[in-house]
Amino acid sequence: MIKRRKTKVVKIGKVKIGGNFPVLVQSMTNTKTSNVKATVRQIKELEKAGCEIIRVGVPDLESAKSLDRIRKQIKIPLVADIHFSAELALESIARGVDKLRINPGNFPKSGLAEIAALCKRKRIPIRIGINSGSLEKDILGGHKKVTAEMMVKSAIRNIRLMEKLEFYDLIVSLKAPDVFRTIRAYEMLSKKVDYPLHLGVTEAGGEFSGTVKSAIALGFLLQRGIGDTIRVSLTGEPAKEVKAGWEILKCLGLRERGAKIVSCPTCARTSIDVIGLSKKIEKLTGEIKKPVNIAIMGCLVNGLGEGREADLAIVGSGQIVLIMKNGKIIRRVKRKDAFGAFEKELRTFL
Ligand code: SF4
Repeated sequence: MIKRRKTKVVKIGKVKIGGNFPVLVQSMTNTKTSNVKATVRQIKELEKAGCEIIRVGVPDLESAKSLDRIRKQIKIPLVADIHFSAELALESIARGVDKLRINPGNFPKSGLAEIAALCKRKRIPIRIGINSGSLEKDILGGHKKVTAEMMVKSAIRNIRLMEKLEFYDLIVSLKAPDVFRTIRAYEMLSKKVDYPLHLGVTEAGGEFSGTVKSAIALGFLLQRGIGDTIRVSLTGEPAKEVKAGWEILKCLGLRERGAKIVSCPTCARTSIDVIGLSKKIEKLTGEIKKPVNIAIMGCLVNGLGEGREADLAIVGSGQIVLIMKNGKIIRRVKRKDAFGAFEKELRTFL
């Protein structure tokens, strides 16, 4: 069992992070925020996929002015992602966002006092989002490569700045596009402050490589108890980020949601279409919230063993297929009837 690092509790809209609260899955929209209809549609899709906090980019005033209409139509907390402009931050606060993310590498320090005062009054937390691609120039000091140490230096500097303004509702992230800098930066910062940490590998890549990279970095940190919210950044559909985030948390036993599937890789012994069945069952269970352990096994070598540990299992056994429920064989069906029989049992289980 993972022992979580004790962090300060921060409230974001209706949800709480840090302390003993669950590690939450975040994502970010890729619609134009000023297109309220498209943005709300995407957020609702992400909510359905399990997104628990949503961030939207606020590149202009029109986007900032759209935030109240977006927020009214969604259930999860809305985070405004602000770069370069105090004016956009102030407008986002006025429009009732649940949290601000500012990037200290490009945010005007002169606007911080007013923003901190307003956020404090309205109980809006702020994420100090350090990104290796936009670190403050004086910390970079002419070096080409940003180190984890530089990122931590920036984080500490900006945390202290906010603390001087008597603002403590902070969340911090230290994102780099590679595994080692990400891990090192979060590990170092977690020893220095107790603010909740939002984990992510920035610009992680496409669906496959980005998921693997994020799973290694985030998995390593979470396994050591570091991290209070996560985002898997993918060059792809945001819903896939949410799916990947949940999969990481489920693998580590930190959260439960929907299907946890064990399926064999298939081999010369395979007597059922494990690959086809896996795809169909994954689709079938994609939106289920109730936790259910499923095994899809090609033969009896490991099939009965995995079936015994699953809530529901489908196991090839020569010409027939075994359907198992709560560890026991409950039906023997023909191959062509296997999916239908499994689907029927799944419905009774949920
Ligand atoms: Fe092969 Fe059977 Fe193992 Fe599947 S469970 S990989 S079919 S031996």
